[in-house]
Amino acid sequence: MSKDYYQVLGVEKGASKDEIKKAFYKLAHQYHPDKKTGDEAKFKEVNEAYQVLSDDEKRSRYDQFGSADANAGFSGAGGFGGFDFSGFQQGGFDMGDIFGDIFGGGRRQRTPQGRDIQIDIQMSFAESVYGVTKTTKLRKHATCLTCSGTGAKPGTKSKTCHACGGKGKTVHLQQTILGAIQSQVICRECDGTGKIPEEKCKDCVGEGVVKREEEIVIPIPAGVRDGETLRMSGRGESVPHGVPGDLYITVHVQSHKIWRREGDDLVADLPIRLTEAVLGAQKELQSVKGEMLTIDVPERTAPGTILRMREKGIPGIKRGGKSGDVLIKVAFAIPGKPSKKAKELLKDLEHEGF
Ligand SMILES: [Zn+2]
Ligand SMILES: [Zn+2]
Repeated sequence: MSKDYYQVLGVEKGASKDEIKKAFYKLAHQYHPDKKTGDEAKFKEVNEAYQVLSDDEKRSRYDQFGSADANAGFSGAGGFGGFDFSGFQQGGFDMGDIFGDIFGGGRRQRTPQGRDIQIDIQMSFAESVYGVTKTTKLRKHATCLTCSGTGAKPGTKSKTCHACGGKGKTVHLQQTILGAIQSQVICRECDGTGKIPEEKCKDCVGEGVVKREEEIVIPIPAGVRDGETLRMSGRGESVPHGVPGDLYITVHVQSHKIWRREGDDLVADLPIRLTEAVLGAQKELQSVKGEMLTIDVPERTAPGTILRMREKGIPGIKRGGKSGDVLIKVAFAIPGKPSKKAKELLKDLEHEGF
């Protein structure tokens, strides 16, 4: 199933985002199933083309792979083939959304969004099990500390915004397929407050954002897994007059010399000797926290026996209170090559039925 999305929308290959958007509005309007001119299949096709061409990343992938192989390159785009119109109305997509920025009076006005940041954090096995707080320094665009992000020189008065006359909104005329439509948008100069500072903050030139080093405290929850990515909302790059991006933290857990993780259980192997297995023994084992645990190995413990300590494993904070278990797996350790005497004794034992 190869489709030329540009052809579907009737635009040139090098069409601008604006041209693509306009073409989409026009066709979506024309083919909307509620209309007399409606055509559900066409409507879906148009939407599919728009989903790809309006997204920079998907569009460049599509351009690269060409129309025939488009789907092959779309591991992340997914779901186009099984597109279903009924799901589409329930699934948060309705014509109100499409036409929102025409009819909605700037309801969908884009607020600038800061970039996300991704970092890696190393931690010990114990830290991953019980949680830890890490701090890191990031050099990024962040709120200006001099003016606390207001952009005003501290102590300065504010005056009425010249751009909107203090209304906080500006009237915006938009040419659409339905003619010119008037809408109100939030004033960019004053961010809708209607006021601007008399004197701008010197450090950020009135932007409220500067590039600086910021110390970030990262609370790592108990039970985090190696390779897991945590998100701290709003801790990415700040942007003037907008919302900051997010911070993504990928966790790297060092392996432990004794303990390993299986699901939510903490697992260790406990090597015991033949005599200990038969006669029972007290063994010592270092816990994840580094404490010495004394393990009572009962008489006649078979290799492969698992000693279980309920709910002493990965803390269950995230899973409604149920913690994992500690499992100690008993295994035989053969202490080197048996001596002549040991062999004789073992033979005697064999006669005794061991
Ligand atoms: Zn400032
Ligand atoms: Zn204004």
